[in-house]
Amino acid sequence: MKLSKNRSNDYSKEALKSRIEQLSKLSGYSLDYLSNSGIDPNLTKGNIENIIGFSQVPVGIVGPLKINGEHAKGDFWVPLSTTEGALVASYNRGARAITLSGGANVIVTRDIIQRAPYFVLENVFKAKAFAGWFEQNFETLKGIAESTTSHGKLEGYRAFIQGKIVYIRLDYFTGDAMGMNMITKATHEICCYIKKQFPIKRYAIESNMAVDKKPSAINTILGRGKSVTVETLFKERVISRFLRTTAQEIDLAYKQQVTGSQLAGVLGSNGHVANGVAAIFLACGQDMANISESCVGYVYTEAIGNDLYVSLYLPSLIVGTVGGGVSLPTQRECLSIIDCYGSGKAKKFAEVVAATVLAGEISLAASIVAGDFVTAHEKFGRNRPDSKK
Ligand code: NAP
Repeated sequence: MKLSKNRSNDYSKEALKSRIEQLSKLSGYSLDYLSNSGIDPNLTKGNIENIIGFSQVPVGIVGPLKINGEHAKGDFWVPLSTTEGALVASYNRGARAITLSGGANVIVTRDIIQRAPYFVLENVFKAKAFAGWFEQNFETLKGIAESTTSHGKLEGYRAFIQGKIVYIRLDYFTGDAMGMNMITKATHEICCYIKKQFPIKRYAIESNMAVDKKPSAINTILGRGKSVTVETLFKERVISRFLRTTAQEIDLAYKQQVTGSQLAGVLGSNGHVANGVAAIFLACGQDMANISESCVGYVYTEAIGNDLYVSLYLPSLIVGTVGGGVSLPTQRECLSIIDCYGSGKAKKFAEVVAATVLAGEISLAASIVAGDFVTAHEKFGRNRPDSKK
C-alpha cells in the first residue's frame, strides 16, 4: 500500500488531510492534533516531504537573562521547547543567578564550518603531489567555491594524507546561515573542477571528516560552527540565597565531576549542555541533529573568596538565523523574541545560546550539591501514566 501524493501540490491542506485520513484508518486512531495546528502546510516546502502535520512541543520561557556579549547585549527572554519537566524552572533559576550577579560575558572565538571531500590517487607519492597541487591552486578553488554563493567564503583547509587517499577538510564562513547546503554546493563545484584538472582515480564530496552531526575530537579541538565562550562571577549573596549553597561546594563538586567525566570517557565536561541546546534548537528552528556536536562543552570553576567564577566553552555550536528551519512560523516567532531572526544575527544567537546553557549548568550543579535535584524533579518533572487520563 502507498500513501497518497497530490501531483499538483503535495503541500496543500488537501494533500495533508488525505494522508492523515489514510493513516487514521490504518492505525485506528484519530490524528486530529497532528493535522489541526493552524499552520499552512505550504509554508513547509523545502523543510519536509510527505507532510502529515506538525509536532507540537510545549515552549516555556526563561528570563530575564542579562547578557554582556559582543553581539547580544541586555536582558533576554529565551524560549525553550521541551517535554522535560523541571528543565525550564532550573534554567530560569540559573538565569536569575546570572542576572543578579551582573550578567554573562560572552564572545564568539571562531566561526567556520566544514565539508571534507576525499580524493583517491594511485599511491602515496601521487597523493603527496595532489596535496601540493591543491595548495598551489587554492586561490582558484576558492574563487570557484565562492562563485556559487553570495555569502559563503572558503577561508582555508587542512589536508590529511592516509596512504593513497587525501582528505581535505574545507573551512567555510557562511554568514548568518548554518551553511551546510551552501557549502555542499560550493564543494561540489570544487570537486568537479579538480576531477577535470588532476588525474584522480575517484573522489567523494564527503569523507565523514567534516564531522557533521556526530560528536568528534576534531570538531572539539579545531571548532565547527561557532566556538563560543561565556563567563560569570556568581556573587556570594546570590549563591546562598538563590542556589542555596556556597562557591566552595560547587567548585569542589565540579572538580570531582570532571574526574567522573574523564573516567567515563566523556567528550567535554559539563552537567547537561545538551538540555539547553536541544530546547533552544527545537524552539528556534535549528537542525536538531547538530545537537550531536553542539552539546560538547567544557566547564571551568574557581572559587574566588566566597564568589564563584564559572566559564563554559562550546567549541562546535551549529546555529543559523537565516535558512534551514528558521522561517517556519513558530520558529521565527521564537527567534524574534530574542531579536535573533534574519541577517546579521547569527553571532548574537550563538551568544544567547551559550549564556542560556551556562544558566542551566550553574542551576544543575547547585541542585546536586544542595540536595534538591530529586525534589525538583519530583515536584515538576513526573508524568506517571495515570496522571493524564
Ligand atoms: P539554506 O536554507 O539552504 O540556504 C540559505 C541561503 O540564504 C544561503 O545559501 C544564502 O544564499 C542565503 N542568505 C541570505 N542572507 C544570508 C545571510 N545573511 N547569511 C548567509 N546566507 C544568507 O541554508 P543553509 O544554511 O545553507 O543549509 C541549512 C540546511 O541544510 C538545514 O536545513 C540543514 O538541515 C541542511 N543540511 C544540509 C546538508 C547537506 O549536505 N546539504 C547537511 C546537513 C544539513 P547564497 O549562498 O546565495 O549567499
